[in-house]
Amino acid sequence: MSQIQSSTLEVTQMANGQAMTVPVYTIKGQGSGPSVYIQANIHGAEVQGNAVIYQLLEQLKQLDCYGDITLVPLANPIGTNQKSGEFTLGRFDPITGENWNRGYHFNPQLPAQFAAANPDLTMNEIVEQYRALIISDLEQQKINNPYGVKTGHALCAKLQRMAFEADIVLDLHTGPISSRHLYCPEYTKDSALFFDIPHVLFIPQDFDGALDEACFCPWWQLQQAYQQQGREIEVAVAAFTLELGSQEWLCLDEAKRDSNSVLSYLSHRGVVKHGLFKPQVMTRYGCYLKDYRAFYAPKSAMVEYLAPLGGLISQGEPLVRMLRIDRYGHDDAVEVIAAPDDCIAILHFASASVNQGTELYKLFTNYFTLSA
Ligand SMILES: [Zn+2]
Repeated sequence: MSQIQSSTLEVTQMANGQAMTVPVYTIKGQGSGPSVYIQANIHGAEVQGNAVIYQLLEQLKQLDCYGDITLVPLANPIGTNQKSGEFTLGRFDPITGENWNRGYHFNPQLPAQFAAANPDLTMNEIVEQYRALIISDLEQQKINNPYGVKTGHALCAKLQRMAFEADIVLDLHTGPISSRHLYCPEYTKDSALFFDIPHVLFIPQDFDGALDEACFCPWWQLQQAYQQQGREIEVAVAAFTLELGSQEWLCLDEAKRDSNSVLSYLSHRGVVKHGLFKPQVMTRYGCYLKDYRAFYAPKSAMVEYLAPLGGLISQGEPLVRMLRIDRYGHDDAVEVIAAPDDCIAILHFASASVNQGTELYKLFTNYFTLSA
């Protein structure tokens, strides 16, 4: 059994000065297991992660947890409340236009500096001292910066400050209309086998501002800095983005499946009892980020999405049917567009009305099967 503590954290304010807060649930670990940070809903329309956190809390309270766990649903109160008509917007800061999941902080100077200054520390000392260093850098640059920071960066920094305490970081998202897929850093490929997620993107160590990258880049680059000095250390932090279906959609039963999937990974890592949760047997497909291709609309039209999400599509099979009713009576009034390569359709655009150049589908190309 574990005790769940709840609190709130102010992450930003409304224009009238009222605090905007996020709920923070914490479990104190009863042992020396890795610590965990799980966040959901940084993109306002991606609500399913909140249901997964609910199901995780329901299960975790009945389990012994060996490491500290922090769960933060509703991570973006501005995005969650950014409504227009029937829809939640909440992907981009309405003032700056920036993606809310690109505002996290990474200081690329620190890994090499730290490794050069501390060649002989033990691994435990490295973790403790380097973690303190990246936290104080985050606080100086983004939380206590005398010049201030943008709204989105301030929000991200408050969240990242909690995430930086953890050895395992899971950021729960959804696609627009999407199948389940996982962003897994290349240094820990085997981790993908413990999540019940059939499609896995392996990502390199480039930093583009997302939470998973902001959490693993400092540690991955530290490992490489030590490697250049001739010393092998492990990458002490693992961070993943889980894409759990479609935006504007919530299902508690499906969330229970994803909670089991997360617990399977946490059980593998010793956060809860080893072997208590096991991954499902399924075919898992992998793809490198460079082979994750957007398919852009060749023209503006009304669109029927034909390629099934998660299905294997052969070159030449139909992806979409495009209707130009203004061209009725001409050959191009209805046009079928085919897949340029063998691929797996992972997600598609949410609207059936598109401009030329709209990202219609995201596709795994050059995909491969993962095996244990
Ligand atoms: Zn997202």
